[in-house]
Amino acid sequence: MDVDYLILGGGCAGLGLAVNILHSDLKNKRGLILEGREKYTRDKTWCSWGVYPHQFQSVVSHHWENFTFKSDKNTLSLSSVKHPYQHVNSLDYYQYAQGLINQSDTMTLQMKTRVEKITPEDDFVSVDIGTDIIRAKYVFDGRTPKFPDETLLQGKSGYLLQAFLGCHVRVDKPIFDISTAIIMDSNLSNQDAIGFYYELPFTPYEALIEPTFFFKSFSELKVQFNKEKIYQLIKEYLAKKYHYSGEYTICYEEQDVLPMIDFLPFDKHPHPRIYTIGSAAGLLQPGTGYAFVSIQRYNEELVKRLSQTDFPTPPPGYSDFIKRVDNFVLKKTYYMNSPNQYVDSIIKGAESMSGDMYARFMHNCLTDEDMSAFAKNTSMRLFL
Ligand SMILES: Cc1cc2nc3c(=O)[nH]c(=O)nc-3n(C[C@H](O)[C@H](O)[C@H](O)COP(=O)(O)OP(=O)(O)OC[C@H]3O[C@@H](n4cnc5c(N)ncnc54)[C@H](O)[C@@H]3O)c2cc1C
Repeated sequence: MDVDYLILGGGCAGLGLAVNILHSDLKNKRGLILEGREKYTRDKTWCSWGVYPHQFQSVVSHHWENFTFKSDKNTLSLSSVKHPYQHVNSLDYYQYAQGLINQSDTMTLQMKTRVEKITPEDDFVSVDIGTDIIRAKYVFDGRTPKFPDETLLQGKSGYLLQAFLGCHVRVDKPIFDISTAIIMDSNLSNQDAIGFYYELPFTPYEALIEPTFFFKSFSELKVQFNKEKIYQLIKEYLAKKYHYSGEYTICYEEQDVLPMIDFLPFDKHPHPRIYTIGSAAGLLQPGTGYAFVSIQRYNEELVKRLSQTDFPTPPPGYSDFIKRVDNFVLKKTYYMNSPNQYVDSIIKGAESMSGDMYARFMHNCLTDEDMSAFAKNTSMRLFL
């Protein structure tokens, strides 16, 4: 056996799992992470409400106690001192994990290594990396999952594509209100596609502005979503919302299309020695596209289970309640026909919640008290 723990993919989940292992009783096990990339760069913004004290708390670089939702007619402002909205820059996350791995004698991160094939044998799993075969007692597969075949999904109301392009802009006047994160603003200058602007104000001069849209198919996405259009939308947002028409620079961009699917199109635990982690384990929440908190929580629980017994069952993913909510939200969104209708429905669902409760709701941490509040409230009861 070459290693005890072989982690495939050193992204959010893979590095997170390694850090959890290094902080546990398992720290003396031999671990290896195989990552395809040559080097780490800032490529993602990981935001979440601070409902769960995870291993990467020290790299939270910004937080907002206030967060708002705005349509053409309604505004909802919520606050949470207990669970503020938190921002992690992915590069800080990667570097923090690399620092801990470099200090350890047992865990190694091997970059520029693409996994080609995984074969379970009787007493180990062999992983083919082209130039070598590595044998491991356990494999944790955190490689980005392949997009499910669209022909199987198209037309299903539980399937949407979330497309976004975020630009970290720097303007030359102090226009941004750093006290408040804008979770959704649907004032989208004549857009037909369902979507909203997302804004994270880092300083009065700098913010991440991210137009986000939902599409039912790639062909629809191709027609309606392109860089030029998004740049134009950002310009219009600055002009409309802040009456700013001066110069601005874009210091960083992030773009992706996330599948929003309310079923897992692959096997989560394909063999007793092979565990999926991260998005590959279905932890990208279908109704929202958030995954960061679930990934951290899942990793911690997985390490706990591995410390207690050999070949444990994997931790559960989302609760049945959250699955029902996601299914409801996805179906509802699928049949909507205006961005304001979408944001109005979110405002309606959230307006009877406190900021604390909304944060817990978003990350699957509702207390018994929250659940009884749900049962009593008509707009929230829809989800039950
Ligand atoms: C731009 C962006 C912003 C996001 N923002 C948020 C947010 O604010 N909040 C939130 O909760 N979620 C967010 N998400 C969703 C989710 O948190 C991320 O997608 C997260 O990175 C998922 O973690 P992961 O470990 O599953 O995948 P990744 O972080 O993508 O890691 C997968 C790793 O596997 C490696 N890999 C792939 N194939 C191979 C191979 N064959 N061999 C070796 N290595 C391989 C990749 O290089 C990568 O490093 C965002 C996603 C994106 C894309």
